[in-house]
Formats: sequence, structure tokens, C-alpha cells
Amino acid sequence: MPIYPLPAQEAERVAKLRSYEILDSLPEETYERITRLTAKILDMPAAMISLVEGDRQWFKAQVGGDRNEIQRELSFCAHTICQNDVFVIEDARKDPKFSDNPFVTQHPHIRFYAGAPLRASGGLNIGTLCVLDTRPRTLSETDRRSLADLAAVVMDALDTRLIIDRAETAERRLFDAVECLPDGFVLFDKDDRLVICNRRYREIYAESADFIRAGARFEDLIRKGVERGQYPDAVGNEEAWIAERLEAHQNPGDPIEQHLPGDIWFRVQERRTSEGGLVGFRFDITKLKRQERELARLAWTDSLTGAMNRRRIMELAESEIERARRHGVEVSLLILDADHFKRINDRHGHTAGDEVLKGMVERWKRVLRSHDLIGRIGGEEFCILLPEIGPAGAARVAEKLRMETAELPFAFEGQLLHATVSIGVATLAPGQGLPDLMRCADRALYEAKEAGRDCFMVAAA
Ligand code: GH3
Ligand code: MG
Ligand code: MG
Repeated sequence: MPIYPLPAQEAERVAKLRSYEILDSLPEETYERITRLTAKILDMPAAMISLVEGDRQWFKAQVGGDRNEIQRELSFCAHTICQNDVFVIEDARKDPKFSDNPFVTQHPHIRFYAGAPLRASGGLNIGTLCVLDTRPRTLSETDRRSLADLAAVVMDALDTRLIIDRAETAERRLFDAVECLPDGFVLFDKDDRLVICNRRYREIYAESADFIRAGARFEDLIRKGVERGQYPDAVGNEEAWIAERLEAHQNPGDPIEQHLPGDIWFRVQERRTSEGGLVGFRFDITKLKRQERELARLAWTDSLTGAMNRRRIMELAESEIERARRHGVEVSLLILDADHFKRINDRHGHTAGDEVLKGMVERWKRVLRSHDLIGRIGGEEFCILLPEIGPAGAARVAEKLRMETAELPFAFEGQLLHATVSIGVATLAPGQGLPDLMRCADRALYEAKEAGRDCFMVAAA
């Protein structure tokens, strides 16, 4: 008997679709239920859902049958699968193509067959739904339509399953990808409720991690974080900080930098999604921030003495004076110049001189408060700004600095170097700016030099 030829392109498509696996994605019971229903509705002793692939026909479910598979060349369904419509053999014995088929001539003595192809979207037949009887029959138009409808129900169930599978796969992939990101990731919906975030995101906001879950509102997360000290910058001005953060979140644009406990820094980049939600990334920029700070420190610092350089102290002195004016508080400025420093260099060498300059700044820093500012404004000339200190206080500080310098010699390579300093003291007068204050202190310094050095002079008010 000739093998019923499967059209070449059909075979190719079957292989491509891996129909067997697709059929396998439905639970067994679905096939069994439809098979039972088909036998019942069409009033047939046997009904089957099968797959024709390669040289075999496999049965997915059957009523009234007793085999799991048969050879393709004996299969009636191998014909159905090549049809667009229901395929009917009213009496196999009278059909020359089937009359000597062993299933016709022997057990189970098939006489009647009707099969509907299981048609996938795209027109590919991936299996069959068929009914059998041992007596010749005809198929009414209604039954023919029912068989086609039941075959379509199988495909609808399969399509639904495939859609669910695809959705689950897509979701699993998304979760997996999001978890693999080295940065913090979060997605909020259009009502600003958390949809998904990764582990990294929860690690970053460790203080409120137990609140970071699907459905949580962004504002609640922020408030919880503030309450638990997640944001050092918010301390003391909580409501203003929250308002600013919410504003940035509602109008995402340029990235913002976020300071977290332990001097950790993140760049927060937020973007609107097409559904009106918001997607956010958190990049760790701690290293960058530290480098930036170190560079700034280096750019502001005098490398020999560690005091600020001229530009920096002038900058800070400007804003300190501005602040003092605004708050109506006093501020004083000292200019210090090492005495006869040329001689020190001449006698002991430039390196020794350097050591003395370094030593002086070290000693002065011990006298000063942490918020006093000290800068090197020339070779052996320094400037000290004393916030919230008036003339009397400034004079006391000047005397202490003078004493710290002169009292003990500086040691350098076994030599003891005596050094002294002259100091000009000035306190900011109403209407004055930094240049005026500097001029006054400079004049006082000149007077101190004139007066014999190793002393301080206070500028006349
Ligand atoms: P006085 O201020 O008491 O009038 O005398 P002086 O000798 O300190 O003043 P002058 O302005 O004539 O000389 C300043 C000296 O300071 C000359 C210079 O070699 C020295 N000097 C400036 N910068 C440095 C430095 O960075 N290292 C060293 N070792 N010496 C410096
Ligand atoms: Mg000098
Ligand atoms: Mg000088």
C-alpha cells in the first residue's frame, strides 16, 4: 500500500512548529474531555485526538481505542491532516484506498471514519480529531459542523495555553533580567505604586527594605525611609526634603544624586514609561564622589602646609563675611607673616624653611576651632578667618598664635630653628567687604612689623 504523501512544505512546517511539543502544552484532561464529548455528540463508539508526525500517528486521547500509536501508512488521519475540511470515509470496505487496510479487514473492523484537522493559526494542521464506527454511516451536515467546531475548541484551548505560556515566559525573563542588573532597578505604575524592583534596589534602601514590595506607594516608601534615617540629608528638614524628592520624582529629567548612610552615593535616573508609570535606576557613584571630593580637596589645598590655598580661602571668606552680614554677627581676619624668613632660609636652607612653615600651620591649627579657616596667601604669609569673633577675641587668638610660634623652636634634622610671626588683626566693620577687611589687617601687620615683629596689632575700627 502506498504511503499517503505528506506535502513537502507541510512536513517542513510541522518540523518547524514542533507540533508534538505544542500539543503537549495542554493538560491531558482537556483532550480527554473533548474526546468524550465528541463521541457523545456525534454518537460514535470511538473518538480520538491524534498527532500525525513522521511515520507515526500518536494518540493524545481516545475513547473506544486500544493503541497508543500506529504506522502512518495505515493511518486515516494522515489523510485528514492534509485537508482543510472534515474528511469522511462512509464505508472503508467500498473505498479502494482503504478496503485492504488491516484495521478494516481485521480488528477493530473500521467501516466509518470522519476526521477534522486541528488547524493552528497560520493555517498549519498540527493534529486531528476523529470519530470511528464499525458500521458504514453517513455524516450529517450538523455533525460535520460539530466535529469541525470541536476541533476548533481544541485549538482555542491550545491558543489560550500558548498565550499564558508566552506571558509567563516573558514575565520570567523580565524578572530574571531585572535581577541580573548590577544596578538598582524599580518600576512604578501610573498610580505611583511599585510594580517590580530588583534585589539590588532593596539592598540600596536597606533601612526600608521591608516596605519595598509590589503595590507600595512611592511617597510612602520615601516617608518610611526618612523616618528610619535612610536619607542623611533629610535630617532636620524632613518635610522640605520629601517635597523636593517628590517633585523630582513627578517630573523626572536630569539625574539626581542621592546621599545614603555610610557616605554612599547613588545617581538616581528616572524616566516616564508609556503607560504613565515611572522606571528608575540607581547607579553607585560613591567612588566617583570620593574621587571628586579628593580632587576638589587637592585643588583647594596648599600642598606644603595642608592649609587652604589663596583662592579657596578667599572664596570661603567671601561667603563667611556675607553670612556674618546677613546674621549681624562679628567676623575677624588675621594676616600672619613669618618674621625674617629670608634669614631662616639663608641660614638653614630652603628645606628647613619649608619644615618651619609646615610646623607653624600645624601649631596654629591646634589653637584654632574646627570652623576657623586658615589659608596660605603668599610664600610665608597666611590668612585666618575667625567667624563670630570680635576684636577682643581676635586679639586673644592672635596672641595665642604668636606664642605657639615663638615659644618653642622647630626641629629639623637635628637643628633647632627659632621662628616668630607678626600678625595684623581686623574685625569686619559695617559696610565693609573682604577687600577692606584684608587692607585693614594688612596695615595692622605692617604696624606689627614696624613695632619690632613677633607681635600683633589690631587695626583701628
Ligand atoms: P619680614 O617678613 O619679617 O619682613 O622678612 P622676610 O624675610 O620674611 O620677608 P621677605 O618678604 O623679604 O622674604 C620672604 C621670604 O620667605 C623669602 C622667601 O625665600 C621665603 N619664602 C617664601 N616662600 C617660601 C617657601 O615656600 N619655602 C621657603 N623655605 N621659603 C619661602
Ligand atoms: Mg616675612
Ligand atoms: Mg612676606
